[in-house]
Amino acid sequence: MRRVAVLGATGSIGGSALDVIARHPADLRASVLSAGRQVDALVELCRQHRPDHAVIAAAEGYRALRDGLRGAGLDTQAHAGSEALGALAAGEACDTVVAAIVGAAGLDSTLAAARAGKRLLLANKESLVLAGELMTAAARDGGAEVVPIDSEHNAIFQCVPTAQAREGLRRIVLTASGGPFRGRSRDTLAAATPSEAVRHPKWSMGPKISVDSATLMNKGLEVIEAHHLFNLPGDRIDVLVHPQSLVHSLVEFVDGSTLAQLGLPDMRTALAVGFGWPRRMSSGVAGLDLLAHGRLDFEAPDLETFPCLRLAYAALAAGGTAPATLNAANEIAVAAFLDGRIGFLAIPSLVGDALAANPAGPADSLDALREADLAARRWTEHALPRHAA
Ligand code: NAD
Ligand code: MG
Repeated sequence: MRRVAVLGATGSIGGSALDVIARHPADLRASVLSAGRQVDALVELCRQHRPDHAVIAAAEGYRALRDGLRGAGLDTQAHAGSEALGALAAGEACDTVVAAIVGAAGLDSTLAAARAGKRLLLANKESLVLAGELMTAAARDGGAEVVPIDSEHNAIFQCVPTAQAREGLRRIVLTASGGPFRGRSRDTLAAATPSEAVRHPKWSMGPKISVDSATLMNKGLEVIEAHHLFNLPGDRIDVLVHPQSLVHSLVEFVDGSTLAQLGLPDMRTALAVGFGWPRRMSSGVAGLDLLAHGRLDFEAPDLETFPCLRLAYAALAAGGTAPATLNAANEIAVAAFLDGRIGFLAIPSLVGDALAANPAGPADSLDALREADLAARRWTEHALPRHAA
Protein backbone atom coordinates (compact mmCIF):
# COMPACT_ATOMS: atom_id res chain seq x y z
CA MET A 1 0.00 0.00 0.00
CA ARG A 2 1.45 3.35 -1.03
CA ARG A 3 0.50 6.29 1.16
CA VAL A 4 0.51 9.27 -1.16
CA ALA A 5 0.90 12.98 -0.48
CA VAL A 6 -0.71 14.92 -3.32
CA LEU A 7 0.80 18.42 -3.20
CA GLY A 8 -1.31 20.70 -5.36
CA ALA A 9 -4.33 18.41 -5.01
CA THR A 10 -6.83 21.00 -6.28
CA GLY A 11 -4.97 21.45 -9.59
CA SER A 12 -5.11 19.66 -12.89
CA ILE A 13 -2.34 17.13 -12.12
CA GLY A 14 -3.61 16.77 -8.56
CA GLY A 15 -7.07 15.84 -9.85
CA SER A 16 -5.63 13.30 -12.28
CA ALA A 17 -3.50 11.80 -9.50
CA LEU A 18 -6.53 11.44 -7.22
CA ASP A 19 -8.47 9.84 -10.05
CA VAL A 20 -5.80 7.14 -10.45
CA ILE A 21 -5.49 6.68 -6.67
CA ALA A 22 -9.26 6.16 -6.33
CA ARG A 23 -9.09 3.35 -8.91
CA HIS A 24 -6.74 1.32 -6.69
CA PRO A 25 -8.08 1.31 -3.14
CA ALA A 26 -6.05 -1.80 -2.25
CA ASP A 27 -2.72 -0.35 -3.42
CA LEU A 28 -2.93 3.43 -3.13
CA ARG A 29 -4.24 5.81 -0.49
CA ALA A 30 -4.16 9.62 -0.42
CA SER A 31 -2.79 10.35 3.06
CA VAL A 32 -1.91 14.05 2.63
CA LEU A 33 -3.63 16.63 0.44
CA SER A 34 -2.50 20.22 -0.09
CA ALA A 35 -3.70 23.32 -1.90
CA GLY A 36 -2.53 26.91 -2.30
CA ARG A 37 -5.56 28.93 -1.19
CA GLN A 38 -8.72 27.05 -2.26
CA VAL A 39 -10.01 25.95 1.15
CA ASP A 40 -13.46 24.83 0.02
CA ALA A 41 -12.10 22.74 -2.83
CA LEU A 42 -9.58 21.15 -0.45
CA VAL A 43 -12.27 20.29 2.12
CA GLU A 44 -14.35 18.73 -0.65
CA LEU A 45 -11.38 16.58 -1.72
CA CYS A 46 -10.89 15.54 1.91
CA ARG A 47 -14.52 14.49 2.05
CA GLN A 48 -13.94 12.23 -0.97
CA HIS A 49 -10.48 10.85 -0.14
CA ARG A 50 -10.33 10.96 3.68
CA PRO A 51 -6.62 11.81 4.07
CA ASP A 52 -4.90 11.96 7.47
CA HIS A 53 -3.64 15.50 6.83
CA ALA A 54 -4.71 18.53 4.80
CA VAL A 55 -2.46 21.55 4.26
CA ILE A 56 -3.39 24.97 3.02
CA ALA A 57 -0.32 26.97 1.92
CA ALA A 58 -1.82 30.37 2.73
CA ALA A 59 -1.55 30.79 6.52
CA GLU A 60 -4.79 32.81 6.71
CA GLY A 61 -6.64 29.76 5.42
CA TYR A 62 -5.96 27.67 8.50
CA ARG A 63 -9.06 28.48 10.52
CA ALA A 64 -11.42 27.98 7.59
CA LEU A 65 -9.76 24.67 6.76
CA ARG A 66 -9.94 23.41 10.34
CA ASP A 67 -13.57 24.44 10.70
CA GLY A 68 -14.46 23.07 7.27
CA LEU A 69 -12.96 19.66 8.10
CA ARG A 70 -14.74 19.60 11.46
CA GLY A 71 -17.99 20.69 9.89
CA ALA A 72 -17.69 17.82 7.43
CA GLY A 73 -17.22 15.40 10.33
CA LEU A 74 -13.72 14.40 9.23
CA ASP A 75 -10.76 13.60 11.49
CA THR A 76 -8.32 14.90 8.88
CA GLN A 77 -5.80 17.13 10.66
CA ALA A 78 -5.56 20.72 9.39
CA HIS A 79 -2.21 22.45 8.76
CA ALA A 80 -1.11 25.68 7.13
CA GLY A 81 2.06 27.17 5.69
CA SER A 82 5.03 25.98 3.72
CA GLU A 83 6.92 24.59 6.70
CA ALA A 84 4.08 22.23 7.55
CA LEU A 85 3.95 21.21 3.90
CA GLY A 86 7.67 20.41 3.79
CA ALA A 87 7.50 18.48 7.06
CA LEU A 88 4.55 16.37 5.88
CA ALA A 89 6.18 15.71 2.48
CA ALA A 90 9.32 14.49 4.25
CA GLY A 91 7.68 12.78 7.21
CA GLU A 92 6.04 9.50 8.16
CA ALA A 93 2.62 10.40 6.81
CA CYS A 94 3.56 9.34 3.27
CA ASP A 95 6.01 7.22 1.31
CA THR A 96 5.10 8.69 -2.08
CA VAL A 97 4.81 12.34 -3.06
CA VAL A 98 3.08 13.79 -6.11
CA ALA A 99 4.82 17.17 -6.51
CA ALA A 100 2.12 19.04 -8.43
CA ILE A 101 2.34 22.58 -7.09
CA VAL A 102 2.79 25.09 -9.90
CA GLY A 103 5.90 27.27 -10.02
CA ALA A 104 8.85 27.92 -7.74
CA ALA A 105 6.38 27.79 -4.83
CA GLY A 106 6.79 24.01 -5.07
CA LEU A 107 10.56 24.05 -4.56
CA ASP A 108 10.77 23.51 -0.79
CA SER A 109 8.29 20.66 -0.56
CA THR A 110 9.70 18.92 -3.64
CA LEU A 111 13.22 19.23 -2.27
CA ALA A 112 12.08 17.96 1.13
CA ALA A 113 10.52 14.88 -0.46
CA ALA A 114 13.68 14.23 -2.49
CA ARG A 115 15.93 14.53 0.58
CA ALA A 116 13.66 12.21 2.56
CA GLY A 117 14.01 9.48 -0.07
CA LYS A 118 10.37 9.30 -1.17
CA ARG A 119 9.02 7.89 -4.39
CA LEU A 120 8.73 11.29 -6.06
CA LEU A 121 6.26 11.79 -8.91
CA LEU A 122 7.72 15.04 -10.13
CA ALA A 123 5.35 17.30 -12.07
CA ASN A 124 6.63 20.59 -10.61
CA LYS A 125 9.10 21.23 -13.44
CA GLU A 126 9.86 24.79 -12.28
CA SER A 127 11.68 23.44 -9.22
CA LEU A 128 13.98 21.40 -11.47
CA VAL A 129 14.60 24.39 -13.72
CA LEU A 130 15.34 26.58 -10.73
CA ALA A 131 17.48 24.17 -8.72
CA GLY A 132 18.17 21.14 -10.91
CA GLU A 133 21.64 20.34 -9.57
CA LEU A 134 20.54 20.58 -5.94
CA MET A 135 17.39 18.58 -6.62
CA THR A 136 19.33 15.83 -8.37
CA ALA A 137 21.88 15.69 -5.56
CA ALA A 138 19.11 15.65 -2.92
CA ALA A 139 17.36 12.76 -4.67
CA ARG A 140 20.61 10.82 -5.02
CA ASP A 141 21.71 11.39 -1.43
CA GLY A 142 18.25 10.75 -0.04
CA GLY A 143 17.70 7.66 -2.19
CA ALA A 144 14.51 9.09 -3.73
CA GLU A 145 12.98 7.32 -6.72
CA VAL A 146 12.12 10.11 -9.12
CA VAL A 147 9.56 9.43 -11.83
CA PRO A 148 8.99 12.45 -14.09
CA ILE A 149 5.35 13.44 -14.47
CA ASP A 150 5.66 15.44 -17.63
CA SER A 151 4.37 13.50 -20.61
CA GLU A 152 7.63 13.93 -22.54
CA HIS A 153 9.97 13.04 -19.70
CA ASN A 154 7.74 10.22 -18.58
CA ALA A 155 7.94 8.90 -22.16
CA ILE A 156 11.74 9.05 -22.08
CA PHE A 157 11.74 7.44 -18.64
CA GLN A 158 9.65 4.57 -20.01
CA CYS A 159 12.04 4.15 -22.98
CA VAL A 160 15.23 4.36 -20.89
CA PRO A 161 14.33 3.95 -17.21
CA THR A 162 17.86 3.41 -15.83
CA ALA A 163 21.31 4.92 -16.34
CA GLN A 164 22.34 1.57 -17.82
CA ALA A 165 19.54 1.71 -20.39
CA ARG A 166 20.83 5.14 -21.41
CA GLU A 167 24.23 3.79 -22.52
CA GLY A 168 24.62 4.45 -26.23
CA LEU A 169 21.97 7.16 -26.19
CA ARG A 170 22.78 9.76 -28.85
CA ARG A 171 20.01 12.30 -28.28
CA ILE A 172 16.50 12.71 -27.07
CA VAL A 173 13.70 14.39 -28.97
CA LEU A 174 10.98 16.16 -26.98
CA THR A 175 7.74 16.48 -28.88
CA ALA A 176 5.67 19.67 -28.60
CA SER A 177 2.05 20.18 -29.59
CA GLY A 178 2.91 23.69 -30.78
CA GLY A 179 0.20 25.12 -28.52
CA PRO A 180 -2.90 27.09 -29.52
CA PHE A 181 -0.94 29.55 -31.70
CA ARG A 182 0.95 27.06 -33.87
CA GLY A 183 1.22 28.35 -37.44
CA ARG A 184 0.46 31.97 -36.45
CA SER A 185 2.85 34.81 -37.39
CA ARG A 186 4.41 36.98 -34.73
CA ASP A 187 2.44 40.18 -35.52
CA THR A 188 -0.92 38.40 -35.21
CA LEU A 189 -0.01 37.45 -31.64
CA ALA A 190 0.23 41.02 -30.32
CA ALA A 191 -3.51 40.99 -29.55
CA ALA A 192 -3.70 37.40 -28.25
CA THR A 193 -5.85 37.27 -25.10
CA PRO A 194 -5.47 35.11 -21.98
CA SER A 195 -8.58 33.11 -22.84
CA GLU A 196 -7.16 32.32 -26.31
CA ALA A 197 -3.79 31.45 -24.84
CA VAL A 198 -5.14 28.97 -22.27
CA ARG A 199 -7.30 27.15 -24.83
CA HIS A 200 -4.86 24.33 -25.47
CA PRO A 201 -5.74 22.12 -28.45
CA LYS A 202 -4.76 18.78 -26.87
CA TRP A 203 -4.23 19.00 -23.12
CA SER A 204 -6.40 20.32 -20.32
CA MET A 205 -4.01 21.96 -17.83
CA GLY A 206 -3.66 24.76 -15.30
CA PRO A 207 -3.49 28.37 -16.57
CA LYS A 208 0.25 28.93 -16.07
CA ILE A 209 1.46 25.88 -17.99
CA SER A 210 -1.18 26.56 -20.66
CA VAL A 211 0.28 30.02 -21.31
CA ASP A 212 3.76 28.46 -21.26
CA SER A 213 2.59 26.07 -23.98
CA ALA A 214 1.32 29.00 -26.05
CA THR A 215 4.70 30.82 -25.84
CA LEU A 216 6.71 27.56 -26.16
CA MET A 217 8.36 28.45 -22.85
CA ASN A 218 6.91 25.19 -21.60
CA LYS A 219 9.10 23.31 -24.07
CA GLY A 220 12.05 25.47 -23.06
CA LEU A 221 11.53 24.60 -19.39
CA GLU A 222 11.23 20.96 -20.46
CA VAL A 223 14.60 21.08 -22.25
CA ILE A 224 16.20 22.21 -18.98
CA GLU A 225 14.16 19.63 -17.07
CA ALA A 226 15.40 16.88 -19.44
CA HIS A 227 18.98 18.05 -19.01
CA HIS A 228 18.74 17.45 -15.26
CA LEU A 229 16.69 14.26 -15.35
CA PHE A 230 18.71 12.48 -18.03
CA ASN A 231 22.11 14.12 -17.60
CA LEU A 232 22.43 15.33 -21.21
CA PRO A 233 23.78 18.63 -22.56
CA GLY A 234 21.39 20.97 -24.38
CA ASP A 235 22.82 20.13 -27.81
CA ARG A 236 21.64 16.53 -27.40
CA ILE A 237 18.07 17.56 -26.57
CA ASP A 238 15.99 18.40 -29.62
CA VAL A 239 12.42 19.64 -30.00
CA LEU A 240 10.00 18.51 -32.67
CA VAL A 241 6.49 19.90 -33.10
CA HIS A 242 3.93 17.11 -33.32
CA PRO A 243 0.41 18.57 -33.32
CA GLN A 244 -1.47 15.32 -32.59
CA SER A 245 0.30 14.90 -29.19
CA LEU A 246 0.26 11.10 -29.48
CA VAL A 247 4.04 10.50 -29.67
CA HIS A 248 5.15 11.80 -26.28
CA SER A 249 8.89 11.83 -27.00
CA LEU A 250 11.66 9.80 -28.62
CA VAL A 251 15.16 8.57 -27.78
CA GLU A 252 17.79 7.86 -30.41
CA PHE A 253 20.76 5.53 -29.93
CA VAL A 254 24.18 5.51 -31.60
CA ASP A 255 23.19 2.48 -33.69
CA GLY A 256 20.46 4.47 -35.46
CA SER A 257 17.62 2.97 -33.45
CA THR A 258 14.85 5.25 -32.20
CA LEU A 259 12.37 4.34 -29.44
CA ALA A 260 9.24 6.32 -28.68
CA GLN A 261 6.33 6.13 -26.25
CA LEU A 262 2.83 6.77 -27.60
CA GLY A 263 -0.54 7.20 -25.96
CA LEU A 264 -3.56 9.44 -25.69
CA PRO A 265 -2.82 12.89 -24.21
CA ASP A 266 -4.00 12.18 -20.65
CA MET A 267 -1.67 12.65 -17.67
CA ARG A 268 -3.21 9.73 -15.81
CA THR A 269 -0.98 7.40 -17.86
CA ALA A 270 2.19 9.10 -16.61
CA LEU A 271 0.82 9.14 -13.04
CA ALA A 272 -0.01 5.42 -13.14
CA VAL A 273 3.54 4.75 -14.36
CA GLY A 274 4.80 6.79 -11.42
CA PHE A 275 2.70 4.95 -8.84
CA GLY A 276 3.25 1.47 -10.19
CA TRP A 277 6.77 1.43 -11.65
CA PRO A 278 8.22 -1.04 -12.51
CA ARG A 279 4.76 -2.59 -12.47
CA ARG A 280 1.95 -1.37 -14.70
CA MET A 281 -1.42 -0.40 -13.30
CA SER A 282 -4.66 0.72 -14.92
CA SER A 283 -5.12 4.49 -15.25
CA GLY A 284 -8.56 4.90 -16.80
CA VAL A 285 -6.96 5.92 -20.10
CA ALA A 286 -7.98 3.98 -23.22
CA GLY A 287 -5.41 2.47 -25.55
CA LEU A 288 -4.34 4.24 -28.72
CA ASP A 289 -6.30 3.54 -31.91
CA LEU A 290 -3.84 4.69 -34.56
CA LEU A 291 -6.21 3.74 -37.35
CA ALA A 292 -8.78 6.18 -36.00
CA HIS A 293 -6.17 8.94 -35.78
CA GLY A 294 -4.82 8.15 -39.23
CA ARG A 295 -1.65 10.21 -39.28
CA LEU A 296 1.22 11.60 -37.25
CA ASP A 297 2.70 14.94 -38.37
CA PHE A 298 6.01 16.54 -37.42
CA GLU A 299 7.45 20.00 -38.06
CA ALA A 300 10.28 22.20 -36.81
CA PRO A 301 9.51 24.72 -34.04
CA ASP A 302 9.21 28.35 -35.18
CA LEU A 303 11.80 30.12 -33.03
CA GLU A 304 11.18 33.53 -34.64
CA THR A 305 7.54 33.60 -33.57
CA PHE A 306 8.19 31.79 -30.27
CA PRO A 307 11.55 33.06 -28.97
CA CYS A 308 10.99 31.65 -25.47
CA LEU A 309 12.32 28.27 -26.57
CA ARG A 310 15.52 29.90 -27.80
CA LEU A 311 15.83 31.85 -24.54
CA ALA A 312 15.59 28.64 -22.53
CA TYR A 313 18.34 26.96 -24.56
CA ALA A 314 20.47 30.08 -24.02
CA ALA A 315 19.81 30.02 -20.25
CA LEU A 316 20.76 26.34 -20.10
CA ALA A 317 23.99 27.06 -22.01
CA ALA A 318 24.80 30.02 -19.75
CA GLY A 319 24.26 27.80 -16.71
CA GLY A 320 24.61 28.95 -13.10
CA THR A 321 21.66 31.06 -12.01
CA ALA A 322 20.47 31.80 -15.59
CA PRO A 323 17.71 29.13 -15.59
CA ALA A 324 16.48 30.46 -12.22
CA THR A 325 16.30 33.95 -13.72
CA LEU A 326 14.50 32.65 -16.80
CA ASN A 327 11.93 30.82 -14.70
CA ALA A 328 11.29 33.66 -12.25
CA ALA A 329 10.93 36.30 -14.98
CA ASN A 330 8.57 33.99 -16.84
CA GLU A 331 6.40 33.36 -13.75
CA ILE A 332 5.98 37.11 -13.20
CA ALA A 333 5.36 37.81 -16.89
CA VAL A 334 2.80 35.02 -17.24
CA ALA A 335 0.92 36.11 -14.11
CA ALA A 336 0.84 39.69 -15.45
CA PHE A 337 -0.41 38.48 -18.82
CA LEU A 338 -3.16 36.41 -17.19
CA ASP A 339 -4.13 39.52 -15.18
CA GLY A 340 -4.45 41.54 -18.38
CA ARG A 341 -1.58 43.82 -17.39
CA ILE A 342 0.69 43.06 -20.38
CA GLY A 343 0.28 41.69 -23.88
CA PHE A 344 1.30 38.23 -25.07
CA LEU A 345 4.47 39.38 -26.87
CA ALA A 346 5.68 41.12 -23.73
CA ILE A 347 6.30 37.70 -22.16
CA PRO A 348 9.34 36.81 -24.31
CA SER A 349 10.54 40.44 -24.26
CA LEU A 350 10.50 40.56 -20.48
CA VAL A 351 12.21 37.20 -20.09
CA GLY A 352 14.90 38.12 -22.63
CA ASP A 353 15.50 41.48 -20.98
CA ALA A 354 15.60 39.91 -17.51
CA LEU A 355 18.28 37.45 -18.65
CA ALA A 356 20.32 40.29 -20.19
CA ALA A 357 19.98 42.52 -17.12
CA ASN A 358 20.69 39.82 -14.51
CA PRO A 359 23.95 38.11 -15.49
CA ALA A 360 24.31 34.50 -14.36
CA GLY A 361 26.27 33.79 -11.21
CA PRO A 362 27.31 30.45 -9.72
CA ALA A 363 24.40 28.23 -8.60
CA ASP A 364 26.32 26.50 -5.84
CA SER A 365 23.83 26.96 -3.01
CA LEU A 366 20.12 27.17 -2.42
CA ASP A 367 20.64 30.70 -1.10
CA ALA A 368 22.33 31.81 -4.34
CA LEU A 369 19.43 30.38 -6.33
CA ARG A 370 16.78 31.94 -4.12
CA GLU A 371 18.56 35.29 -4.41
CA ALA A 372 18.66 35.04 -8.22
CA ASP A 373 14.99 34.01 -8.25
CA LEU A 374 14.02 36.97 -6.07
CA ALA A 375 16.17 39.46 -7.99
CA ALA A 376 14.62 38.38 -11.30
CA ARG A 377 11.11 38.63 -9.84
CA ARG A 378 11.78 42.18 -8.61
CA TRP A 379 13.45 43.18 -11.85
CA THR A 380 10.54 41.89 -13.93
CA GLU A 381 7.90 43.49 -11.67
CA HIS A 382 9.66 46.84 -12.15
CA ALA A 383 9.82 46.36 -15.91
CA LEU A 384 6.09 45.52 -16.24
CA PRO A 385 4.80 49.11 -16.63
CA ARG A 386 7.02 49.59 -19.72
CA HIS A 387 5.08 46.73 -21.34
CA ALA A 388 1.62 47.73 -20.09
CA ALA A 389 -1.16 46.39 -22.31
P1 NAD B 1 -2.82 24.01 -11.57
O1 NAD B 1 -2.75 25.49 -11.62
O2 NAD B 1 -3.99 23.32 -12.15
O3 NAD B 1 -2.67 23.53 -10.05
C1 NAD B 1 -1.66 24.05 -9.21
C2 NAD B 1 -1.81 23.53 -7.80
O4 NAD B 1 -0.80 24.17 -6.99
C3 NAD B 1 -3.14 23.87 -7.14
O5 NAD B 1 -3.52 22.82 -6.27
C4 NAD B 1 -2.83 25.12 -6.31
O6 NAD B 1 -3.68 25.27 -5.20
C5 NAD B 1 -1.41 24.81 -5.87
N1 NAD B 1 -0.64 26.03 -5.58
C6 NAD B 1 -0.59 27.15 -6.34
N2 NAD B 1 0.21 28.07 -5.75
C7 NAD B 1 0.65 27.52 -4.61
C8 NAD B 1 1.51 27.98 -3.55
N3 NAD B 1 2.05 29.20 -3.57
N4 NAD B 1 1.77 27.13 -2.52
C9 NAD B 1 1.22 25.89 -2.49
N5 NAD B 1 0.40 25.43 -3.45
C10 NAD B 1 0.12 26.22 -4.49
O7 NAD B 1 -1.46 23.49 -12.25
P2 NAD B 1 -1.21 22.11 -13.02
O8 NAD B 1 -1.56 22.27 -14.44
O9 NAD B 1 -1.79 20.97 -12.25
O10 NAD B 1 0.39 22.02 -12.96
C11 NAD B 1 1.07 21.67 -11.78
C12 NAD B 1 2.53 21.41 -12.12
O11 NAD B 1 2.60 20.28 -12.99
C13 NAD B 1 3.20 22.56 -12.87
O12 NAD B 1 4.53 22.65 -12.47
C14 NAD B 1 3.12 22.13 -14.32
O13 NAD B 1 4.16 22.66 -15.11
C15 NAD B 1 3.27 20.62 -14.18
N6 NAD B 1 2.68 19.87 -15.30
C16 NAD B 1 1.33 19.92 -15.52
C17 NAD B 1 0.78 19.21 -16.57
C18 NAD B 1 -0.71 19.21 -16.80
O14 NAD B 1 -1.17 18.44 -17.65
N7 NAD B 1 -1.49 20.00 -16.10
C19 NAD B 1 1.62 18.47 -17.43
C20 NAD B 1 2.97 18.45 -17.18
C21 NAD B 1 3.50 19.15 -16.10
MG1 MG C 1 5.10 18.37 -21.02
